[in-house]
Amino acid sequence: MPEPARILLVEDDGRLAELLQQLLTDEGYDTVLARDGQRALHEGLTQQFDAMVLDRGLPVMEGLDVLNRLRNRGVVTPALILSALGNPADRVEGLDRGAEDYLAKPFDIDELLARIRALLRRHRSDVPVIAVPGGSLDVTSRTVTTRHGDPIPLSERESDLLERLARRPSQVFERGDLLVSVFPDADDPGVVDTYVHYLRKKLGRGSVRTIRGIGYQLGPLS
Ligand code: CA
Repeated sequence: MPEPARILLVEDDGRLAELLQQLLTDEGYDTVLARDGQRALHEGLTQQFDAMVLDRGLPVMEGLDVLNRLRNRGVVTPALILSALGNPADRVEGLDRGAEDYLAKPFDIDELLARIRALLRRHRSDVPVIAVPGGSLDVTSRTVTTRHGDPIPLSERESDLLERLARRPSQVFERGDLLVSVFPDADDPGVVDTYVHYLRKKLGRGSVRTIRGIGYQLGPLS
């Protein structure tokens, strides 16, 4: 069975937030709720999501600013903006500033769910781009784009290894696990170390962390 899609839900209105979280959970989504812009930024930068549902009017930092900052840090997760402002100029601003879709409040629950499904379909089929701290990896073209925008081409195995680490950014992988999942034809775990070395040469020394006695974990690009 495929893993459930992960959704970052950002909504400060307590009752609406609870209602939406319940609804998304009932639909089978793995949902993380953030109630203000700061929290949303933190979750968006430290976790991997398949879609974001972002209220525009938030305390501390408004929804479009959160989205802007995430986009500037290389987070390409598709976003649906919810807004009490429904006029065309507002909608255009939302789309211009990096949102994939825009829905005015009050909205119909079924319409929201349909739009989330559409967002996830587009994301999963057309946008094979994974966020890594400080940039992103396009697994189709095997290219890393850093926050400064310089594209770095990777070999097939380098890309596979980085993808494996980036899909679970908080997990520490054992060498043996990486050997089996990324280098199924090899039997020397040293090949993992060799490719970690290649990635560090291309993406910076911190891009793959060594966790002593265990293995490797994704780190920030430099
Ligand atoms: Ca609000």
